Amino acid sequence: MKIDLKDMSARETEAWAVSQGLPPYRGRQIRQWILGRHVASFDEMTNIPKTLRARLKETAILSPLEPDRTLTSRDGTRKFLFKLRDGHFIESVLIPERDHFTLCISSQAGCAMNCRFCLTGRQGLKRNLHASEIVEQVIHVKRGMETPERLTNIVFMGMGEPLHNYDAVVKAVRNLVDADGMNFSHRKVTLSTCGLVPEMDRLGRDVSVNLAVSLNAADDATRDRLMPVNRKYPLKTLISACRRFPLPNRRMITFEYILISGVNDRDADALNLVRLLSDLRAKINLIPLNPHPGSDLSPPDRETVLHFQEILLRRHFTAIIRKSKGADILAACGQLSGRAAGPADAGTEDGPLQFHLH
Ligand code: SAH
Repeated sequence: MKIDLKDMSARETEAWAVSQGLPPYRGRQIRQWILGRHVASFDEMTNIPKTLRARLKETAILSPLEPDRTLTSRDGTRKFLFKLRDGHFIESVLIPERDHFTLCISSQAGCAMNCRFCLTGRQGLKRNLHASEIVEQVIHVKRGMETPERLTNIVFMGMGEPLHNYDAVVKAVRNLVDADGMNFSHRKVTLSTCGLVPEMDRLGRDVSVNLAVSLNAADDATRDRLMPVNRKYPLKTLISACRRFPLPNRRMITFEYILISGVNDRDADALNLVRLLSDLRAKINLIPLNPHPGSDLSPPDRETVLHFQEILLRRHFTAIIRKSKGADILAACGQLSGRAAGPADAGTEDGPLQFHLH
């Protein structure tokens, strides 16, 4: 089996070099080419002897993902559909912001959490991604960008529950933020979880990243209905874990709250939310539900959304209404399914023109 050096930490790469009869610095050089310079072929590794490059071609792989196609939304959001070696599909979404780009990446093919409002959850878990497959999403997108240096923010908010694939995700985070890796600022990497409490504790000990928690309800009865994970880790347990989570400097935990008409959008819900988060360093992202076919849930009207936000603002919470981007190409939150949207969709196709059948 061929190896992928993106599955290795800095130290493991050095050990691998030694196991190949090479000096440790060769490992570091190759790692630098792969993670730091995101080369697409071993031949670009100009300070590596030709014989070693030839050997690498035989024993190692550079790109574990096959890009399937790319869709661009009217608002500039781009969705990348990748095929894994075993045929499953995953997606990444590149979101243009005012002065930088954010890339939303997947941590699993499918998802086991089965949240009622989320399209990814419908298909169940296909499998965990390897660290290399997580990092490769970032590398592939960077390679294709005109201004790769403007991709500064990474969010684990694509397909999958990142803390349900703990080891690979933490390894990927380290390769993203290591100075001799991809060198992202750990202040600009955000991991979003539905609330797997033991892994939240581990994460706080293992790496420094921003934490986002998908809350979506401020009482257990509602959250139980929307998110089965709440039956295992109810709100009291979840909020205690948030309180324990180490927050350096002036960092805050982001709480994502999808607004769903008639389900969690009343004044009483906003007040419950205020009470629940009162002693936390919290900011709240309000996301009007992105509907998808076959779901009976719908977003509230604009007025209700603004009113809900107003209640939070008056209690001195930072509460932002997150604009949904990429909805026309099913690239918005909760719309990733690992399938290409049909040809009738509004997005423009820029990848190779292949439609796969499901
Ligand atoms: N499993 C992780 C990360 C993936 S979901 C988590 O649960 O946080 C990323 C975000 O998309 C979550 O905040 C989730 O609440 C939101 N989301 C899921 N489905 C959505 C939908 N239909 N409309 C709007 N947001 C949605």
